[in-house]
Amino acid sequence: MAKVYYNGDVNETVLQGKKVAVIGYGSQGHAHALNLKESGVDVVVGLRKGGSWDKAVADGQTVLSVNDASALADVIMVLLPDEYQPKIYKEEIEPNLTAGKALVFAHGFNVHFSQITPPDNVDVFLVAPKGPGHLVRRTYTEGAGVPGLIAVYQDATGEAKELALAYAKQIGAARAGVLETTFQEETETDLFGEQAVLCGGTTALVKAGFETLVEAGYQPEVAYFECLHELKLIVDLMYESGLEGMRYSISDTAQWGDFVSGPRVVTHQTKQAMKDILTDIQTGKFAKGWILENQANRPEFNAINAREKQHPIEVVGRQLREMMPFVKAKSKGVVTSAKN
Ligand code: NDP
Ligand code: MG
Ligand code: MG
Repeated sequence: MAKVYYNGDVNETVLQGKKVAVIGYGSQGHAHALNLKESGVDVVVGLRKGGSWDKAVADGQTVLSVNDASALADVIMVLLPDEYQPKIYKEEIEPNLTAGKALVFAHGFNVHFSQITPPDNVDVFLVAPKGPGHLVRRTYTEGAGVPGLIAVYQDATGEAKELALAYAKQIGAARAGVLETTFQEETETDLFGEQAVLCGGTTALVKAGFETLVEAGYQPEVAYFECLHELKLIVDLMYESGLEGMRYSISDTAQWGDFVSGPRVVTHQTKQAMKDILTDIQTGKFAKGWILENQANRPEFNAINAREKQHPIEVVGRQLREMMPFVKAKSKGVVTSAKN
């Protein structure tokens, strides 16, 4: 089994006397900055003027421009949207990367796909919590944490891995467990997971199930509950005790249906499609398409996004959730934090 690092394995003294700049104060940024600060780390936040700036000030953070924060800090954690990182890096971070500093990411995309090329004389590593930022924050305040990955891309000081582990500990990740990976593995598996299973695969499955029932004449409300709402209950069981535990909790009829019908939905062809998706990620084809889409101001992204919002499952879902205040209250946080 791969080595898992917990609090007791980590020497956090390597962070002592160092100033950490958290660049960005969104989903991940606010969680890292608050957790680090409460763990006793010397933190500044780097931002432009705007909504996040005001929020960080209200939270009691020391807030500076990205340039000033990067100039002051020994450890610079880049928690900006991946699409904007290369430009902001070039203009405001790179000029401040003097020898021996550490440049840190929560996702390997820009380094792995050569959109950011750091100088040789700095440490480059990633600390990637495997969960949305709002959970990183909430679990920390509860005395727990979200598991994390660390990876060292470049070790200029000889301390990069120790520093990555110390950072992971101070945001709470080593309470839950930290695994070591590489930028390549983190980037490729993160993209594959969100495309094939977590986001793309799941939304397509839910929509296809809903459409099948509605096209056969069943009520959209019933189809919504059956294909979307109940998914959470099943996923919670899988999360707690694996497929086996979920199957233990459902009826034998549901379990038999799972065995005989699951493989009719996710077929050899589906698996072949997953392999093709993985190939596009590994070869850089997906990354290139997404980078070009952003350079063109996202015409396809925006068109699909607008169309998806009008899907009947969304229309009926909005109405049903209005009547379920307990669902609505929770989903507010999720809407902003579900990006990973
Ligand atoms: P968000 O979109 O939630 O936050 C981005 C932050 O960057 C905001 O505070 C925004 O401030 C700021 N920002 C945007 N543009 C600029 C600019 N030009 N100058 C200064 N600040 C700017 O990002 P995420 O937290 O989702 O993602 C950050 C990183 O973490 C990414 O690398 C992502 O892949 C990674 N990650 C994210 C996870 C998640 O849970 N979301 C999970 C694991 C990794 P403003 O209010 O001014 O726009
Ligand atoms: Mg049922
Ligand atoms: Mg991701």
